[in-house]
Amino acid sequence: MLLTIIAFLHAHLLAPFHPAPRHSAAQLPALSTWQGQISAKKFSTHPNDTLRINHLKRQLQFTIRLLPKWHTAPLKKLELHNDTHLSRGLSSAHKIILHLNSIQSTSELRSVFIHELGHIVDLGALQGKSGRRTTFRDGNLPILSDDPSVQFYSISWTSEKKQRTNK
Ligand SMILES: [Zn+2]
Repeated sequence: MLLTIIAFLHAHLLAPFHPAPRHSAAQLPALSTWQGQISAKKFSTHPNDTLRINHLKRQLQFTIRLLPKWHTAPLKKLELHNDTHLSRGLSSAHKIILHLNSIQSTSELRSVFIHELGHIVDLGALQGKSGRRTTFRDGNLPILSDDPSVQFYSISWTSEKKQRTNK
């Protein structure tokens, strides 16, 4: 599987985090049937790290439960890296990496995760099937003309590297 990771550095596009309303137990969204894998890297075996990993997994699984299944189903691998990075999160069509030491709070974790899931919807959920090749690509993979994302990209871009000029 092609795992070309595309770095997105546009943190300024991140929408402000709005806390979800508190649910009573009876109102909790149904358990997700999400089938992906969560893995933790660069953690120690110290019990504090185990507690931290479990806390992070609960937060992310809660976030997944709030979202439509078709948004999260293409996400196959979710990696929690215990390190710092210029990008708080990275995403390809089927994988998200979160760089935990570049993220300062639980609410920031959830908002970065939701931002990256936007890329999963764009690259992994909204896909063309039988269109022609366009000037847009995901790494080496061509984006096909019947991918609904093309209409959105085309508002501002003529290819994935070339922005439209204002006239
Ligand atoms: Zn992004």
